[in-house]
Amino acid sequence: MKQSTALLACVVVMSPALASADPFRPSMADQVKLGADEAARIRKEEPVLKATDPRVIELRKIGADLVAAIPPNSMRGKPWTYTFDIIDKKEVNAFALPGGPIFFYSGILEKMTTKDQIAGVVGHEIVHVLNQHWASQYADNTKRRLGILAVLTILNAGDTVFDIASVGDALYSLGYSRKHETESDKVGYDIMMRAGYNPNGMAETFEMLAKEGGGGGPEWARTHPDANKRVASIREMIKKETRPLPPVRARDAKSIAAGTTASPGERLPGKGGGSSLLWSGTRGSSPHWLDCGC
Ligand SMILES: [Zn+2]
Repeated sequence: MKQSTALLACVVVMSPALASADPFRPSMADQVKLGADEAARIRKEEPVLKATDPRVIELRKIGADLVAAIPPNSMRGKPWTYTFDIIDKKEVNAFALPGGPIFFYSGILEKMTTKDQIAGVVGHEIVHVLNQHWASQYADNTKRRLGILAVLTILNAGDTVFDIASVGDALYSLGYSRKHETESDKVGYDIMMRAGYNPNGMAETFEMLAKEGGGGGPEWARTHPDANKRVASIREMIKKETRPLPPVRARDAKSIAAGTTASPGERLPGKGGGSSLLWSGTRGSSPHWLDCGC
């Protein structure tokens, strides 16, 4: 082990170009392609609501407001294209794919009474994409799996190691780290404020999700015992906020109504049901928006 550590030091010192770019990290172009391909597959195979559905109109307006409020220097040179869709299923969940596609389930929207609560989830997901959390997690995971000797061999070859064809279910199976989740909460909070949404909505969503987790609810809550701490830290940010809090915005009546009536005619063609899921429901395989590998 001592020898390999020395070798690593040597590689890093002698190859500054390799040291500055992580060859295990999917490039921004790779992330865009992976996310766009998977989003296209979801839109084809899952019951995704049409653009004319009031819930989609409402979500896209909130999404556009938040994207417009991202500080320009965070987006400079970034190829992200944010899109917002709703999968018409009862799951209480939402997730982001690399590069910008964001999906909500109608199940989570049914639990929300204000636009601010929706904006809380949107802000959080936007930051996962913005700061390339999936790509960082993928690189870290690969390095852990390969071990240091294999890493050295590959580094000496001087190649980029990431192979887009080998990603497989890693698009969904990697939980985010505690650091990434905290960052998404904090930066997402700031984007909400800039866009004029009340950040109490973010705290309320966390509380709602924590309650949902009781008694065999969504898996993320059972695997996230510190959900309450996160609520507390958002409440703390609100307490220390020096900017005036934007007024709370109620949801559009049409969107709430659409969520309470079955609307199969409003769906895009898709298999529906639950057989073609991307995730099996086992720990770590669901794209839970709060899923953290910590
Ligand atoms: Zn998250």
